[in-house]
Amino acid sequence: MNPGARMVLLGRQGAGKGTQCVRLSRHFVIPHISTGDMLRAAVREGTELGNMAKAIIDAGGLVSDDIMIGIVAERLEVDDARDRGYILDGFPRTVGQAESLDGITSERPLNMVIDLDVPRELVLERLSARRVCRDCGANFQATGTETGQWTCENCGGDVVQRDDDTPDAINRRLDLYETQTQPLIDYYGKTGRLVTVDGLGSPDEVFDRLTKAIEQRL
Ligand code: AMP
Repeated sequence: MNPGARMVLLGRQGAGKGTQCVRLSRHFVIPHISTGDMLRAAVREGTELGNMAKAIIDAGGLVSDDIMIGIVAERLEVDDARDRGYILDGFPRTVGQAESLDGITSERPLNMVIDLDVPRELVLERLSARRVCRDCGANFQATGTETGQWTCENCGGDVVQRDDDTPDAINRRLDLYETQTQPLIDYYGKTGRLVTVDGLGSPDEVFDRLTKAIEQRL
């Protein structure tokens, strides 16, 4: 049995993090912890957190560090993450979150942080065509020929466009990525934890590169 791993996957929105995390989670038998998925579930369930976060998410803003750190700290205490590790997707997104994550994980530190690198021009195209399954979070690319309701081939859920995949929100999120999240590349680079992986190519090619890079580091 694979020994598991504690990892963070960084990368612009639309770089393919969601797709690759699902596959990495199966390959390394570790939970995929996506803060975006957790927030969207809270919005759907109409919890206090969801109601507070909805407007921020739809506008492409960032939920406060305090709230996000609380959610992640609690999730990392669950047995699966304690025993096997995890792949964090969408967290940390600010240096404040990264510093807190180092505190939370001081007993079981991160093995590595991967930067899935795809240029901004390319992710813009991908995000406009992105569709996601409301139930399992699987990602698809619309070709423009789809008609009527789209059903997820994995779980039968509804495949829809995210409320925050509008041109305005996409640009805001990519700007926030440059100003708030890009500094994390330096933060993790300086401490020798960063592995950069080229995110261009087919999902299979990228997955192959990711698993090789990860296995080399473990
Ligand atoms: P994602 O699916 O990772 O693109 O996240 C969707 C949205 O959820 C983001 O645009 C933010 O509004 C919010 N969000 C997710 N993760 C975080 C985080 N770590 N810090 C702040 N906001 C977040």
